[in-house]
Amino acid sequence: TKYKEGMKKTRNSFSGKINDLIARYRKVDEDFFEELEEVLISADVGVMTVMDLIDELKMEVKRRNIKDTKEVKDVISEKLVEIYYGDDNEQIEALNLQENQLSVILVVGVNGVGKTTSIGKLAQQLKQDGKRVVLAAGDTFRAGAIEQLEIWGERAGVDVVKQGAGSDPAAVIFDGIKAAKSREADVLICDTAGRLQNKVNLMNELSKVKRVIEREVPGAPHEVLLVLDATTGQNALSQAKTFSEATDVSGIVLTKLDGTAKGGIVLAIRNELNIPVKFAGLGEQITDLQPFDAHAFVYGLFA
Ligand code: GDP
Repeated sequence: TKYKEGMKKTRNSFSGKINDLIARYRKVDEDFFEELEEVLISADVGVMTVMDLIDELKMEVKRRNIKDTKEVKDVISEKLVEIYYGDDNEQIEALNLQENQLSVILVVGVNGVGKTTSIGKLAQQLKQDGKRVVLAAGDTFRAGAIEQLEIWGERAGVDVVKQGAGSDPAAVIFDGIKAAKSREADVLICDTAGRLQNKVNLMNELSKVKRVIEREVPGAPHEVLLVLDATTGQNALSQAKTFSEATDVSGIVLTKLDGTAKGGIVLAIRNELNIPVKFAGLGEQITDLQPFDAHAFVYGLFA
């Protein structure tokens, strides 16, 4: 499957290291846990998350009286899944879309993370599901962003609402909402500029855009998706922190999982920020955006 193929780098690196560790240690002891800690941190699981995990593992190993490192492997995957889901039921977190009413999805993230590409992929998939989709080119700041969104719109066969470069993003989104309503669209996906250099500007811009959406469509935005690049590791985590301070992020699109051996960042994001990863980007093709399935993800690490 796409998942298995896309996660190849992380899997090869992660399961290789774990298997090596198990072969070398055989017996579960303090040194084994210490090295395991290093392996997990090197996969970008995140120091805080790794600490939690190691504590849990030690307790579980003691409780079950496990002596052999081979048996620890299963416990690791169980605990990783537990860490991801917390108290939630084990299920894929779907997009919050409205029935018979316009749903508005606001997409945020810094330049280069794959925001435009992800919007294009999502638009195409929603269209294939029979939804009428409109895109609003709210990234009026980055050179070429509007044109790029138009290309994706054409590819997906959905309308793109735009103004000129440098225009007010909130005005573009306002036009987008008007167009979506008059075309009786099901979903409006709003692109935004991702200027992190200036946090105050970012916050002001996002809150202005959000105010327009809230005013024009009661109950909206139904999703605020933050796009993060998995290959940037701990940087992705700090971007997530900054954006969630600037606005209420409802879900994450984690791109380029196919390009990293450090897919463990997924677990850090969930554990430290408690924001669900809703989609995984596993390649550059339009079909390479997949609903994130933590169970498949964790067990894929060891396959
Ligand atoms: P934006 O600046 O955030 O809008 O980023 P773009 O959408 O232009 O994407 C930047 C680059 O990342 C492009 O070359 C995309 O093809 C690539 N990209 C986006 N998502 C993925 C992914 O999931 N996997 C891979 N390998 N490349 C991706």
